[in-house]
Amino acid sequence: MTHFNNDVLWNQRPWPALAAVHQSQECDVCVIGLGASGLTAINRLAAAGKRVIGVDAHMCGGGAAGSNGGFILAGIAAFHHDAVTQLGPQLATALYQQTVAEIALLAQHEPLFRHTGSLRIACDADELADCEAQYTRMRQDGLAVEYYAGPEGQGLLFPHDGVFQPLERVRRLAQQALAAGATLYERSQVSHIARGAVHVGAYVIQAQHIIVAVDGALERLLPQLADEVRTTRLQMTGTVPDPNIQLTRPVYYRYGYDYWQQLPDQRIVIGGSRDRFAEHEWGYATGSSSLIQTDIERTLRTVVGSQAAIRHRWGASVAYRHNDIRPLVRQVMPDVWACGAYNGTGNIVGTLVTRLVADALYAPPSDALHAWLS
Ligand SMILES: Cc1cc2nc3c(=O)[nH]c(=O)nc-3n(C[C@H](O)[C@H](O)[C@H](O)COP(=O)(O)OP(=O)(O)OC[C@H]3O[C@@H](n4cnc5c(N)ncnc54)[C@H](O)[C@@H]3O)c2cc1C
Repeated sequence: MTHFNNDVLWNQRPWPALAAVHQSQECDVCVIGLGASGLTAINRLAAAGKRVIGVDAHMCGGGAAGSNGGFILAGIAAFHHDAVTQLGPQLATALYQQTVAEIALLAQHEPLFRHTGSLRIACDADELADCEAQYTRMRQDGLAVEYYAGPEGQGLLFPHDGVFQPLERVRRLAQQALAAGATLYERSQVSHIARGAVHVGAYVIQAQHIIVAVDGALERLLPQLADEVRTTRLQMTGTVPDPNIQLTRPVYYRYGYDYWQQLPDQRIVIGGSRDRFAEHEWGYATGSSSLIQTDIERTLRTVVGSQAAIRHRWGASVAYRHNDIRPLVRQVMPDVWACGAYNGTGNIVGTLVTRLVADALYAPPSDALHAWLS
């Protein structure tokens, strides 16, 4: 199968490489994974005066956190009415409200956040009926949603949502962490973790607490989670500017299996199609494949209606959970926490839960954190 290059559209400026781990050392907290989730925990702990070391196998934002669709969506990956079926109305609504507050926090600090709202557009009559069920349940639980009909189609509008530049956000968080005194290492793959010890090649980082903030490949680092968590690849495509298309809001289509947005410079960023070739996408491969890219391109041409030339193709790993629609947030051994498996929607939930976990290292876990534990 042809593999295209991994040319992430968001990667628009050079990033000075940080040092790799080159000695054994000790700290209060070691955070593994320098995506937005890990860096949020690092910033929280560094601001509280803790000695924090963060390590990443690649670079800051080199995983899903820097290469995703840029959608900022309230709620967990499951639509709210489906979350209610699984978790009950009280818990599902509490989780949704936490994510709405997290978006408000992001909006305060993230200059590239655009508060556009987002659309769920139905692909057929069955999905439109499902949109109605979602609308009814959200209204019943006091959550903001509106019916929508427009050039994109018919469905729902979620006014809290928006978009951002994911890689720039990660890099800003990394710069903040460095300025706050945290030590960050890139190109430093953690081979295994034991209580109080993070092993990176020949070196050991000894830490009172460890947070594993890894979405894709979580179960490779923590094999005890392999029965619950499975890694897959998600792929995206980016076009040249298309002046013939005018999209003001990000679109979730076909139950969210396809998704796209148009940037202020008129380029279109589109992802999806994984469900059609799920068996090909499980595993740790990153980059892009012709099978998925051809299918995304078909959606771009026939559903979005853009004929713009394609300039970027890329993919990255995320993890899904088998047995719970919530992400995996758990103390996996004494003083070692894991956060990941966001089921494809981790921009907001990831920073939210890692901040709650960071706060719980030196204080009793909050009620907000309890809602995520499973
Ligand atoms: C194509 C695509 C589109 C997406 N679109 C959206 C979207 O629009 N909205 C949304 O909310 N979510 C989206 N997601 C999901 C979202 O990107 C992720 O859930 C979220 O970014 C996870 O961030 P994170 O910081 O928790 O983890 P990651 O970004 O996965 O970061 C983990 C880091 O850990 C490092 N790492 C892994 N293993 C090791 C190890 N053994 N040692 C050291 N370091 C290690 C990795 O190199 C990586 O940098 C998308 C994902 C993809 C791939």
